[in-house]
Amino acid sequence: MRWHAPADLEEALLLRGVHGEDVTVHAGGTFLGILMNQGLIAPPALLSLGRVAELRGIEVARGELRLGAMATHLAVERHPEVREGWPMLARAFGLVASRRVRAVATVGGVLADADYASDPPAALSALGARAILRGPGGERSVSIEELILGYYTTCIRPDELLVEVRVPPAPERAVYRKFVSRSSEDRPCVTVAAAHGAAGLAVVVGALAERPQRFDDLCAAAAGDLAAAGAREQLAQDYAARVEPIGDARGSAAYRRRVCAVEVRRALEALAA
Ligand SMILES: Cc1cc2nc3c(=O)[nH]c(=O)nc-3n(C[C@H](O)[C@H](O)[C@H](O)COP(=O)(O)OP(=O)(O)OC[C@H]3O[C@@H](n4cnc5c(N)ncnc54)[C@H](O)[C@@H]3O)c2cc1C
Repeated sequence: MRWHAPADLEEALLLRGVHGEDVTVHAGGTFLGILMNQGLIAPPALLSLGRVAELRGIEVARGELRLGAMATHLAVERHPEVREGWPMLARAFGLVASRRVRAVATVGGVLADADYASDPPAALSALGARAILRGPGGERSVSIEELILGYYTTCIRPDELLVEVRVPPAPERAVYRKFVSRSSEDRPCVTVAAAHGAAGLAVVVGALAERPQRFDDLCAAAAGDLAAAGAREQLAQDYAARVEPIGDARGSAAYRRRVCAVEVRRALEALAA
């Protein structure tokens, strides 16, 4: 196996542009490592981003949070400006797996692997985050809904890298809930990320279908009534009716639908409190 280890972003983009599908991007390696150890994939070459310092940054610019693709989950969880300005996001990254995994797994990796049973995608979607993709054709900015197309599938082209995630100024209230059905360090069975602010109400349910689910029409209709318990319960029931859950080792489809109703209601209660 060939191992490319570019020293900076320019070289990384060049290698990605030249080799395309013939190289597999290696970020933290926590997802790739499992696939390779189990013999599910055998990439002929890896493109490691480990030395690309430009991708590790976390900064706030003009009120917007910018997370470099190689920022680790632990770095996001612990960053003072993230904790201060986007506490819901710090919480969502802080609930992933164990400290050992969070110290290595990256922002770009958890979005690019598009594993349905993940925490950050729903949280980032509720906050209106956008992923920045760069390749020979230039740079494009896509929403989380545009990025994640289905099971382990994204819109990232073979010659592109995900370089950054941009999160708009935080809404007035935001909540993240993770429901696990087996162990405290497990991947989620159902997640709910909810945000309420000038942009309105956003509720995103994750881990129960192939990609995060959000129903902005339901949220727009309910946004003005969040103070009323009946309206919160109705929206939770409407979400549970609309989602199309899967069944797996963490819970059947019917179980997930019931959990969805409870977790959406609890998230809305926390938003209204
Ligand atoms: C034991 C364990 C428990 C876990 N529990 C959870 C959990 O509870 N919640 C949760 O959300 N996640 C969980 N995860 C998943 C973890 O968050 C992912 O494994 C991790 O985020 C992948 O990040 P990475 O940097 O290691 O990516 P890698 O394994 O290096 O790469 C993942 C994929 O993304 C591609 N890729 C990576 N970076 C880029 C980029 N910049 N541009 C283009 N493509 C790229 C790679 O080619 C590869 O296909 C768990 C993982 C483990 C091992």
